Amino acid sequence: MKVIPYGRQDITPEDIEAVVDVLRSDFLTQGPSVEGFESCLASYCGAKHAVAVNSATSALHLACLALDVGPGDIVWTSPITFVASANSALYCGASVDFVDIDYTTNNISVAALKQKLEIARATDRLPTVLIPVHMAGASCDMVSIFQLSQEYGFRIIEDASHAIGGTYVGRKVGAGFYSDITVFSFHPVKIITTGEGGAALTNSEVLKQRLLLLRSHGITRDAQQMSGVPDGGWYYQQIELGFNYRLTDIQAALGVSQLLRTDLYVAERNRIAEQYNQGLARLPVSLPQDLADVYSSFHLYIIKLADGAPVSRKCLYDGLRDQNIGVNVHYIPVHLQPYYRRLGFSKGDFPEAERYYDRAISLPLHPNLAPAEQEYIIAKVSELLA
Ligand SMILES: *Cc1c(COP(=O)(O)O)cnc(C)c1O
Repeated sequence: MKVIPYGRQDITPEDIEAVVDVLRSDFLTQGPSVEGFESCLASYCGAKHAVAVNSATSALHLACLALDVGPGDIVWTSPITFVASANSALYCGASVDFVDIDYTTNNISVAALKQKLEIARATDRLPTVLIPVHMAGASCDMVSIFQLSQEYGFRIIEDASHAIGGTYVGRKVGAGFYSDITVFSFHPVKIITTGEGGAALTNSEVLKQRLLLLRSHGITRDAQQMSGVPDGGWYYQQIELGFNYRLTDIQAALGVSQLLRTDLYVAERNRIAEQYNQGLARLPVSLPQDLADVYSSFHLYIIKLADGAPVSRKCLYDGLRDQNIGVNVHYIPVHLQPYYRRLGFSKGDFPEAERYYDRAISLPLHPNLAPAEQEYIIAKVSELLA
């Protein structure tokens, strides 16, 4: 029996056709498909601008740079995230700190954030930027976080790598009402894919221009942005230190085609999540619990072992893997990674995140998970927890 993966892309004949069309066209990169993808993305989310890049990691890096994060700045994020959320700040020479999670939602705790901000103000260590992470596709309490940002003067980058297609207070994640920039990932395990890929969405023209400039070496062909007069038609100037973080047109075409199915994927993920909710309801586990104003995209279906569960998380993980069920753990707290320990973090720093890590496991969830596969998973989880 093949392993049932925890996540998997869905590629249709239309996706393949869209990619092949680009391969037969004049531009494999820097052509019209990237702009097409960007405008589809922005309008899907209800944001003014989208800038497509080669990964969410690149998008996070550029988002930090666009908000002028640099040496001397402090960036805060959640310890329960993929390492890239924190690394992006370190790339800019800033330092990183974490805000503990709320054990119910697995997202940054607003109470912990408030308390940490109080202390930071008293010690003159306020963050420049906060990167809240919408774990598993469920938005953080952005209204409260935005209010705190006004009070304490920090900027916000939403790491929505899990959350395209989700909504918050009736608007699509990415609409940008409560943040400066929102980042998506299009890695194949995420909701929609471009192979590798990511995007940064914003409602600010200024931020969009900076993101575009930094995505492509810091080079401009716009005379308005240059110093002096252009030498001629061939002329460009490098006005900042940028990167090559471009998405190809091949990937962008796949992105446009995938984006058309986002709502279908998210609805299917919610249906599968609801099946899990029913099938696992009587077991000693806590099931996903999102805020009232949140419609999750359900990138992940995470359960947490209750106090007094008959097996440890490791036993459950090994037991399910032995049955060819591709469970996973999202995530190992970032502050416990050896690299971050060397920066001074240690066990005990973020107790709720560590409690979460001891108990959490992600069950397979993707649009093509067959009903029989899901029944099998529910039966095996139930056996191990009986
Ligand atoms: C996947 C992921 C990233 C990184 O995405 P890439 O596109 O692989 O660079 C960043 N943050 C979170 C929360 C993620 O899940």
